[in-house]
Amino acid sequence: MLDRIRRWEEEILNYWSEKSVYDKVKSSLKGKPVFNFIDGPPYPTGPIHLGHSWNKTLKDIVLRFWRMRGYDVVDTPGFDMHGLPIEVQVEKKLNFKSKTDVLAYGVDKFISECKKLAFTNVKVETEQFRRLGVWMDWEKPYLTVDPTYIDGVWWTIKRMHNLGRLYQGWKVLGWCPRCQTVLAQHEYEYKQKRSPSLYFKVKLLDEDCYVVVWTTTPWTLIGNMVIAVHPDEKYVKVKANGELWILSKYQVDSGLLKELGVEKYEVVDEFPGRAIEGKKYVHPLLNEVPIHKELEEKNERCHTIITSAEYVHVDEGTGCLHVAPSFGPEDFEIGTSLGLPLITFVDGRGVFDKDGGYFEGKNVNEASELVVKVLDEKGLVVKYGTIVHEYPHCWRCKTPLIFRLTKQWFFRVKDYRDKLVKLAEETEWIPSWAKALFIDWLKNIEDWCISRQRFWGTPLPIWICEKCGYYIVVGSIKEVEELSGKRIEDPHRPFIDKIVFKCPNCGGSMKRVPDVIDVWIDSGSVIWSVLPQVKGISDYSKWETLEIVLEGKDQIRGWFSALFVLSAILFGKLPYKRVYMHGFVTDERGVAMHKSLGNVILPDEVIEKYCAEILRFYQVISTSPGEDQRFGYGLLSRARTYLTIFINTYNYLSQLAKYHKEVETDLAPEDEWLLSRINSLIEEVTKDLESYQIPDYARKLYEFLVEDVSRFYIQLVRERMRDETEAGKVLHVLKYTLDRFLRLAAPLNPMLSEKIFIKVMKKILGREEDSVHMLPWPSVDKDKVRKDLEEMFNKLREVLTAVKRLRQEVGIKARWPCRALYIEDKSLSPLREVILRAANVKEVIFETPREDKYIKTCSTTVGTVGLDVKETRELMAERLMRDISRHVRAKRKELGLRPIDRIKLYIAGEKEMLNLLNDVMDELKERCGADEVVTVRELPKVHDKVEFKGHIVQFYVEKAS
Ligand SMILES: [Zn+2]
Ligand SMILES: [Zn+2]
Repeated sequence: MLDRIRRWEEEILNYWSEKSVYDKVKSSLKGKPVFNFIDGPPYPTGPIHLGHSWNKTLKDIVLRFWRMRGYDVVDTPGFDMHGLPIEVQVEKKLNFKSKTDVLAYGVDKFISECKKLAFTNVKVETEQFRRLGVWMDWEKPYLTVDPTYIDGVWWTIKRMHNLGRLYQGWKVLGWCPRCQTVLAQHEYEYKQKRSPSLYFKVKLLDEDCYVVVWTTTPWTLIGNMVIAVHPDEKYVKVKANGELWILSKYQVDSGLLKELGVEKYEVVDEFPGRAIEGKKYVHPLLNEVPIHKELEEKNERCHTIITSAEYVHVDEGTGCLHVAPSFGPEDFEIGTSLGLPLITFVDGRGVFDKDGGYFEGKNVNEASELVVKVLDEKGLVVKYGTIVHEYPHCWRCKTPLIFRLTKQWFFRVKDYRDKLVKLAEETEWIPSWAKALFIDWLKNIEDWCISRQRFWGTPLPIWICEKCGYYIVVGSIKEVEELSGKRIEDPHRPFIDKIVFKCPNCGGSMKRVPDVIDVWIDSGSVIWSVLPQVKGISDYSKWETLEIVLEGKDQIRGWFSALFVLSAILFGKLPYKRVYMHGFVTDERGVAMHKSLGNVILPDEVIEKYCAEILRFYQVISTSPGEDQRFGYGLLSRARTYLTIFINTYNYLSQLAKYHKEVETDLAPEDEWLLSRINSLIEEVTKDLESYQIPDYARKLYEFLVEDVSRFYIQLVRERMRDETEAGKVLHVLKYTLDRFLRLAAPLNPMLSEKIFIKVMKKILGREEDSVHMLPWPSVDKDKVRKDLEEMFNKLREVLTAVKRLRQEVGIKARWPCRALYIEDKSLSPLREVILRAANVKEVIFETPREDKYIKTCSTTVGTVGLDVKETRELMAERLMRDISRHVRAKRKELGLRPIDRIKLYIAGEKEMLNLLNDVMDELKERCGADEVVTVRELPKVHDKVEFKGHIVQFYVEKAS
């Protein structure tokens, strides 16, 4: 079945392109109200993963739904082609270890490799998204490397500058020593890491007493400037190992000393932290790092105990905080507030420079070991071990970050926090709880470091005069051309680096700052940067708020934030009205997929093994907004059921239409019920999609098709199909229902729906259109909605569940009729005829049943239900007859007989059985399509046998001449 669907998908994709179906749909919607949307651009780093397929399927549903509603949908896809993701891949391919390798190789060659790889991967991913059945404007995607796009990003930078929000400053930020660039907060990837855990002593200058301090980065001691304690919390002086130590009382009380190997100690003093404020200590590396001597002389706060209520927590470490202002963001805050000097100590590779003294030339890891060794020789180590903790890593190459002091370019954002939060209150989030996460992020947002010390990116459009330091922020390629008098063939590095012009201030030469821009500014500027391309508009202020953006949860810090901050600051306007946020995909057990774990499943693999529709269906239905998705081949059974029943149901209708004529009057209650149900379904899923409850939409389609249509309605009408008029009514009802259902399912299963439309429905409905996607979204037939009837059928299904359970308890098969059914709830009496068939009983009695020898009861939410299980001779005859006819019908199929073919049936068995059959001979003939039934003692040839109550009945089928 799934193989067949896969072949259909390929066929439909060809059909779409041959008939230009997408283009026709698009042009039919020109001039209609606009549905404004933007695709959050993926990095073209190679084959897509399950997160991508999930994301694009959800988007595809949204876009298809609004197209069917008659909207001119903006569906330009995009690719985020700059940045580290591509650079790291190229470096891997070329076997580079560091940035130096890039410089040696040549920036121009490196950039052209990046460009080549990005464009190749755009092609690969585009094909994969198409294969998923996603309809976007694949011929005209927006690419962040396009000069027109770069123009938009440069405009953003210049505009921020004009608003006084661009500045250059020193800051301690996460730095990847491998990629040799600064990373912004939203690019940190937190992972478990084993680090050193060092407790060491620092001697007070004028007392024979030590402060005990803890660190996980021993190398940062080289930059230690002060030790901070909490001003109000209690500290103790203890006598331990014959020395006096100072630590927080809280930690001593919690047993820290024992952990540090001190069995016996005595508390000799207790005081608040401020009591030791201002005390000088001996820097433990004073001799090894000579610069500390100079610092001490110049700045009296250096190497003293200071207090900080904000940054010191007495339950962390020893409650005495080692502060290295160049190596930690909080340390930096403390250092600048004290006016301590700023020294970088390490270079971009994480290697100590000459200020590191004894440690010069060592990288941070080597320096850590050496620091411990030096302290140990001085007898200053209290305890040395390791610790596993959450630590930030480079988001691309996974190297543990170091925190390092550098000079960078920033957008001033922090002072705008309150306005951002206020504006964010106006957005709607699906799921609603995600809004609080976003607002929390905005409440704590820092100034945005926008410069990166890399190669493949939008160049930072700032030119600085070498002589006087005057700088110009450029807002477009044209502006650079005007300033330099040169034509800019390619705004990328290294070409743009060569553009030099004269300083208007002093006549010196102005050179570009060599940095590139954070990729999140590329994607965060998308709404206006694509205007020239998508709408042919050159005025960047002419953008409209997007209806929705739809991305993964990591975008709270990423794209959702970038879009929001930029449009709020630049335009005071919401970039989007609402956000749909989905989670990440994990394996079946909830473990993240990783090559090293061997648990990676790729969308291509699922499509090759099964088909795209199973992937689409599973990814949409299985996971609520905001939640992570588990994916594994063992989890696809519901999706498989849905697709199988989808095809079988339409095949059934196709058969009906072939053999019967539609009858539209005098419908049975279950017919009216199904007509009501499909209209209620239209109403419900329209609301779901309007409010972006996308998994609910899929779940309702599943329940309707599988439970209501296939397992209930089609089973219920089976007996009626023996009557031509009744069959005509069923045909009418199914045709009406499945026409609408197909349109509801088209956004979810675009390829399967299309195939079914072309193969089955187009003809049955007499439609002219080439595609199901050209049909309008169905509207509700209000006069067909009968909530009372739906309510009644809900009750009926409760009753039927009870009957099923009772039959199982007593061992009476569903196809065996029973004498009577008792139902307490009299409101079901209009359904008497339906119940007779559905419950397979001879009589329905609306009375509260009392349990006795023959009446078995069961209580339900709609009252007590009782089944009369007494076995009469007539019932036995009928049961036997039904068993035989069922087997005979199966045999007929096996023999390849058509429904209209007549047979001659030979039956052999004990006399008692044959006698029973005599009573129901006419019905047996009718049910088997037999002209004649011959009963004999023994059969020369046997087709099959039926076991009934310990007796055997054999039969043989012969085609009647
Ligand atoms: Zn890195
Ligand atoms: Zn100048």
